[in-house]
Amino acid sequence: MVSHFRLLCKPILFPTVQLRQLSTTTFFLLAACLILSAVSSSASSQSSVRASRPLLSRPLKRLAHPVVILISCDGFRFGYQHKTPTPNIKRLISQGTEAETGLIPVFPTLTFPNHNSIATGLYPAYHGIVSNSFLDPITGDAFTQKNFDPKWWLGEPLWETVVNKGLNAATYSWPGAEVNKGSWTCPKQFCSPFNESVPFEDRVDTILRYFDLPTSEIPALMTLYLEDPDAQGHKVGPDHPSITDAVARIDKLLGRMIAGLEKRRIFEDVHVILVGDHGMINEGLESGKVGNGKYLKVYLKENLPSRLHYSDSDRITPIVGLADEGFKVEMNKTEAKECAGAHGYDNAFFSMRSIFIGHGPRFAKGVKVPSFENIQIYNLVTSILNLHGAPNNGTSSFPKTVLLPRRNKKIPVS
Ligand SMILES: [Zn+2]
Repeated sequence: MVSHFRLLCKPILFPTVQLRQLSTTTFFLLAACLILSAVSSSASSQSSVRASRPLLSRPLKRLAHPVVILISCDGFRFGYQHKTPTPNIKRLISQGTEAETGLIPVFPTLTFPNHNSIATGLYPAYHGIVSNSFLDPITGDAFTQKNFDPKWWLGEPLWETVVNKGLNAATYSWPGAEVNKGSWTCPKQFCSPFNESVPFEDRVDTILRYFDLPTSEIPALMTLYLEDPDAQGHKVGPDHPSITDAVARIDKLLGRMIAGLEKRRIFEDVHVILVGDHGMINEGLESGKVGNGKYLKVYLKENLPSRLHYSDSDRITPIVGLADEGFKVEMNKTEAKECAGAHGYDNAFFSMRSIFIGHGPRFAKGVKVPSFENIQIYNLVTSILNLHGAPNNGTSSFPKTVLLPRRNKKIPVS
């Protein structure tokens, strides 16, 4: 087999596979075979905390119930926070809990599969969003990023869990949050669709205004999606100065969020969780024909490494290729040579990692925990909110390894 590799600079998600090609091609894309044992996901559940922590969480002073603001920055690769002064991110880190070597995405390391894994605690094979776009091989229907038909979106996202318990939830632009599921109807007041023309500052201010509602109406969960710095990463790769500018902008927005919470005297009452969906890598350095198996390994999906959890769905193509880090499979030969960033690769690559930072009453201050997979976040959030969650792929005991025990254990779980 011969494959063509080239560099891209277009702001697109990796892997780039047209739906038409999906229907006519025996395999499509994806990421790599290199396993970085030193950084593998096996560290995920072996949490050990370095700093001493207080025995119990800090009590709420002004809010009547726990609140989580879950913020996702698309393509925020682990390490970006050190590229430029980020005083607000550093404040959350120093006064909160951080995954010391980053948050591990699910495979494929793409935006929609990962945001839905964060929201549901399920691997893509089980929440159904197996790529950013794909065909259902049984019906022939196409899933795109603008498809909000509930039939595609399996599992129970956090906002559905929250409203099922009679609490309010609010979502801002989070992929999949516009899908009606169970008690969640994407109410206009609490469900802002993705609109890239809305300035980030306005999105933050919308979240802050929820805290001006009567206490009982304040959403227990607020999710906020920001499409940066993914766009810049695609255009210029992860090492370009424009990434630094995007990271500084994200930090400034966090400063706006913190200032708004402090103004309301609730910053220490609110749980702020900052994550990203995946990392970013510069694409390869050469283009041309290569030998069979070089830079690309092809599997029957049932033979993929089990750690990828990427086989148990009809929506996953029967044959899956894993490209080496930085390489891209193209269906058409091209002479183009450009430099750009990409993601979608094996989630064992360190370059695909993002960040996890938690700040608030249930997070110990100044604590580092080992990296973990983002499917654990669902249980983490339901634990903070004291809710029984839906069954998922996360570990039920995981929250204990990251969160402080609740101060008042007599509160019944809803
Ligand atoms: Zn992207």
